[in-house]
Amino acid sequence: MSPLDQLPLRDDLRGETPYGAPQLDVPVQLNVNENPYPPSDAVVADVAAAVADVARSLNRYPDRDALGLRADLAAYLSRDGGVPLTVDQVWAANGSNEVMLQLLQAFGGPGRTAVSFAPTYSMYPEYARDTFTTWVTGRRTEDFRLDPDEMREVLAQHRPSVVLLASPNNPTGTALGLDEIAAVYESAPGVVVVDEAYGEFRRAGTPSALQLLPSRPRLVVTRTMSKAFALAGGRLGYLAASADVVDAVRIVRLPYHLSATTQAVARVALAHADELLGAVDELRAERDRTVEWLRGQGLRAAASDANFVLFGELRDRHAVWQRLLDRGVLIRETGPDGWLRVSIGTPAEMAAFRAALIDIAPEVRR
Ligand code: PMP
Repeated sequence: MSPLDQLPLRDDLRGETPYGAPQLDVPVQLNVNENPYPPSDAVVADVAAAVADVARSLNRYPDRDALGLRADLAAYLSRDGGVPLTVDQVWAANGSNEVMLQLLQAFGGPGRTAVSFAPTYSMYPEYARDTFTTWVTGRRTEDFRLDPDEMREVLAQHRPSVVLLASPNNPTGTALGLDEIAAVYESAPGVVVVDEAYGEFRRAGTPSALQLLPSRPRLVVTRTMSKAFALAGGRLGYLAASADVVDAVRIVRLPYHLSATTQAVARVALAHADELLGAVDELRAERDRTVEWLRGQGLRAAASDANFVLFGELRDRHAVWQRLLDRGVLIRETGPDGWLRVSIGTPAEMAAFRAALIDIAPEVRR
């Protein structure tokens, strides 16, 4: 009997465990798609000064609507997506996880359905569970793309109030074309959320769904500062959409959900955007090299627009994961059976990953 059985836990939560990858203190950590480069001393000094400034008024609640931060995010997105956005079209919360939970709180709920296409980000079913939204997944093709017939069939059958599409998708790295997103939007009766957590890592020629926002009031694009922006510890996610979507989300947000320190730190990071995003080109090049190298080893590696690569197909993926960990390299056991995901780290970290994989080569392939 579990100690939790003593508590009046919701029946549907009995036996559930908290989500999360192992946080292990090993030399090479390539398992949660972080940016491997810490902030420079100059950024650290500006963050410290901003936090000290905020500390003087911590007796007061923060700006409930985070207007200054949202204006800065709107300016950044207008630059990155090439579409002008205003402060009322942008919303922010503690990581894009919270943004998407708020979207499900506002647009999902009992008697409603949310749809995605697997394999995809493993938190999506948890947002659905936590908001009593029915969760349905369609299938992706063998090379992890959307199948237009399957997409139309699943949307017609389930009539979801929310569709969640990660692009680039986690754990596969594959991105959607604008035509594919527009087709989902036409077929979907409800809100279509394009989760661009890894958007800044997209390859040249892969556009952002931000371009589709004008004239699509049910479209939402979510982003995060946890990945390209190298601010995973700051916990700042955001969305861009019509002002009506933002107003809907404001109904369900908790008052003062975004602390004064979070808002201040995120604004400092945005002021240093060029520097913090400075490693993105190098990480993209390292990603492309990693895909090529894995294929050169006779493995399959999914085409990636993100800062990670899904590779397979492995006879015993858990054994490979464990052997790499034994050599100090932590990657992620996720995605379809036979596949593993490696985040892109520094050149030295990737060299350690390659050396460890070569070391165990005889036991790797199917
Ligand atoms: N979406 C995707 C596809 C992700 O992989 C992640 C993080 N692993 C998130 C959203 C959430 O990131 P955060 O809450 O740090 O913004």
